[in-house]
Amino acid sequence: MANYRGRFAPSPTGPLHQGSLVAAVASYADALCNTGEWYVRIDDIDPPREQPGATNEILQALTAHGLFARDNGADSLKDNRVNEPSTTAIVLQSLRSSGYSDTLQQLIKQNLIFACQCSRKSLAESLPHYPGVCIDKQLPLEDHALRVQVKEGLFSFNDRVFGLVQQDVAKEFGPFVLQRRDGLWSYQLCTVADEIADQVTHVVRGEDLLDNTPRQLVLYEYLAQQPPVFCHVPVVRQENGAKLSKQTGAMALDNSRALENLKSAWCFLGQIESRAATVEEFWQFVEKSWDTTRIPTGRAVTN
Ligand code: GLU
Repeated sequence: MANYRGRFAPSPTGPLHQGSLVAAVASYADALCNTGEWYVRIDDIDPPREQPGATNEILQALTAHGLFARDNGADSLKDNRVNEPSTTAIVLQSLRSSGYSDTLQQLIKQNLIFACQCSRKSLAESLPHYPGVCIDKQLPLEDHALRVQVKEGLFSFNDRVFGLVQQDVAKEFGPFVLQRRDGLWSYQLCTVADEIADQVTHVVRGEDLLDNTPRQLVLYEYLAQQPPVFCHVPVVRQENGAKLSKQTGAMALDNSRALENLKSAWCFLGQIESRAATVEEFWQFVEKSWDTTRIPTGRAVTN
């Protein structure tokens, strides 16, 4: 098993923008400095939210910004991997449904899963907490949303940027959905199943996902697996506090300005200024100077 394997896991809901580049740069820089492996996982588990062509655009942008896979030909990543010449090695979640079923089965065997027939509308007032309406109904697992039970108490981890993070998942969320009624898998299930299958040791991603991590810890515990080390980095927000995203009007990265984009992501991550003249020089500089203690935890606002 690799000492360090990191990943970048974009959802193909649109092209990469400056906000997503920040997470990509942070995860790549961390892998680079730890002589680690790094790969791209496309989180294409929600077809209605996907934008045609986005996966290719994302891969092209990564290549233009010098973010090439560093997977050293790792065996565990070979399944479902698509090799695109001149771009990076990627894993597609849409090809991994059988792995998610296996993971779900492990939880079913432990009697941790129950079927839920509540509509989103009927839960609207209590969300994000699920009041447990269907737990004792013993509904058939087919044709229903499937939720996992959560034991009481705090789930905690030491984030490399945010320090000790604790959450009472049962109180905050209660039993959460792993598979929707229409069969679509949840982010929590897929990301944990993949981190385990791909032997990911380090997760570096945006702090908008910080409060998802304790739910993922619930699954790691049930599956008796060691969670990766987590590092959440600040996300680029608009004046009103909303995360920069396609929905909030983020512009696609201009690949012809790759060096400027990288330097601006680097600066956003609180790192010392780079005077690199090329993308290649930039990454050489990064390898020597990435310092997670410089990453700001404040919710920075940027246009
Ligand atoms: N696909 C998720 C997103 O784009 C990120 C998943 C992750 O890094 O765990 O928000």
